[in-house]
Amino acid sequence: MRLVTRRRLKWALVLVLAAAIIGYALWQVGRARCFQLVGEITCRVQTSQKLVALSFDDGPTPQGVAALLPVLREHGARATFFLIGQEMERHPGLARRLAAAGHEIANHSYAHDRMLGLFPGAYAEELERTNRLLRAEGVNGLLLFRPPYGKKLTGLPIAVERAGLRMITWDVEDPPGSVSDPAAYADHIMRGVRPGSIILMHPMYASGRTAREALPLILTRLRAAGYRVVTVRELLEVEAREEAG
Ligand SMILES: [Zn+2]
Repeated sequence: MRLVTRRRLKWALVLVLAAAIIGYALWQVGRARCFQLVGEITCRVQTSQKLVALSFDDGPTPQGVAALLPVLREHGARATFFLIGQEMERHPGLARRLAAAGHEIANHSYAHDRMLGLFPGAYAEELERTNRLLRAEGVNGLLLFRPPYGKKLTGLPIAVERAGLRMITWDVEDPPGSVSDPAAYADHIMRGVRPGSIILMHPMYASGRTAREALPLILTRLRAAGYRVVTVRELLEVEAREEAG
């Protein structure tokens, strides 16, 4: 092979490798729960108290709300529901029922698409449409946002800050879909819990049956382990108080 051709081939390989490394790094950053390139993100709160937040993503759906409300009431627990704007419009009245029962309702985008590579205006539009729906249900003060599929790079975090939202992820999440035993589901959650944890569950759709059945077990076990369940907003307030000394 001629020397020039060999050199070109070497550079082409170096470029392909560099592109692959950058692509992999961006993919990792995009899915990281406790890190993002710009702005603040909260996956867990620093506290010495045995407090955890229980958060439910997606919906609201009639079956999800009907299943969860009585269980939460029975255990005296208040949770944070990250709701999809489109679903709030499809099922009017459900978000209000959640809020009226003392739960926190928060923003989980309008259409629940992966929010990567959009035009800046598109991020703002997704956030604002659901913010308006939440405000109409009486939510005031700080609004929380959770990215669909946990995906974000730079455009979304910037839009979240501009809209005055707080980016909230999680440090404990439901087990893989193959786990269909509620007790095994609860074991998985309890193994990850620490003071200040934010637990993520998906109980809203048909696929969330195990999550719905595991909820009473999780609430019972959290109480037995000395944990009190609070909303994400309360967890943030506790952290702010402890930091202030
Ligand atoms: Zn979601």
